Amino acid sequence: MSTSKTKDNFEMRTVSRIVKGMPATDGAGVELTRVIGQPALTELDPFLLLDAFRSDKPEDYLAGFPSHPHRGFETVTYLLEGRMRHKDNAGHEGVIKPGGIQWMTAGKGIVHSEMPEQEDGMLEGFQLWVNLPADHKMDEPAYQEYAAEHIPIESRDAGVEVRVITGKTSRGTKGPVVQPLTDPLYLDVRVPAGEEFIEPLPSSHNSFVYVINGPIVSKDESGQAVQLNRDDLGILSDGNAISIHAGEHDAHFLLISGKPLNEPIARGGPFVMNSQAEIQQAFDDYRHGRF
Ligand code: MN
Repeated sequence: MSTSKTKDNFEMRTVSRIVKGMPATDGAGVELTRVIGQPALTELDPFLLLDAFRSDKPEDYLAGFPSHPHRGFETVTYLLEGRMRHKDNAGHEGVIKPGGIQWMTAGKGIVHSEMPEQEDGMLEGFQLWVNLPADHKMDEPAYQEYAAEHIPIESRDAGVEVRVITGKTSRGTKGPVVQPLTDPLYLDVRVPAGEEFIEPLPSSHNSFVYVINGPIVSKDESGQAVQLNRDDLGILSDGNAISIHAGEHDAHFLLISGKPLNEPIARGGPFVMNSQAEIQQAFDDYRHGRF
C-alpha cells in the first residue's frame, strides 16, 4: 500500500507524514527549533531528538549550553555555519567548525558545555540524539570528531553532491563515523534545481528527510507528489529506496536513517534510559558527583 515498485525493483519509500518543528528555548536561553522530541513527534526510534538552530542574531545563541550532563545515548552535532566550543569533565575539549561533526557517545555519563565560539554572525546546525541499546547505555563515553575536510563528498551526475557523515552510499562512499549498534546513515545532500536524487535505504531502518533549503518534492502514500518546504521533516514509509526531486531552486537536505531499538524509553531531561528507576539513579549519580 505504502510503496510502489519501479523498474529497478526499488520499493520506493514515500513521505508518510510531514512534521513541523516547534520553537523552543534550551540551554541558558538558546532559541532553536525542536523537530524530534516534541509533542508532534516524541521520537523516531532510534532518534530521540532533533534540534535545528539557525540565527544571525547573537541574542538567540550567545548564552549557549553551559555545563550539563548526559547519560544513555549519543549527541550528534553538525554545523553548517559558525563555531561551537565543547568541553567536558574528563578534559576533552575542542571547537566544531562549519561542515564538522561531533558524534559523542555519552554512555554512562559525561558533563559538558557547548558554547558558541563567536560573538556575531550566523550560527546554523543541528543536534541529533541517537539512542543506545540497554546493554550499552553504561558504556564508557567516547567521541568521534571529524572536521569538514575529513567528510567525503560524493559527486554524482547533474551536480548532485552527498556529504557522507556516517553509513555507506549505494556508490560505496563511506562516512568516517562508525556506530554498528544503530547502523545510522547521515547524509547531507545538495540537489540542483530540477534534478533528482535516488538512494537505496535499508528497509528495516527508520528514515527521515529534513529540508535545509527547498522545496523538495517526493511522493505521498497515494503516489501523489508531495512538497516539503524549508525546515519540514518528512517521515519516510517502509521501502528500500527514496527518490527526491529539487523544485525550481537548488535543494539542500539531510537524509538520516537508523535501526530501531524497540526498547522502552524513559526520559528525564538530559538522561534517556529504559526505566524511571534508571533515570532516578542518573539524577542521584549526577548530584553526588559520580559522572
Ligand atoms: Mn549537551
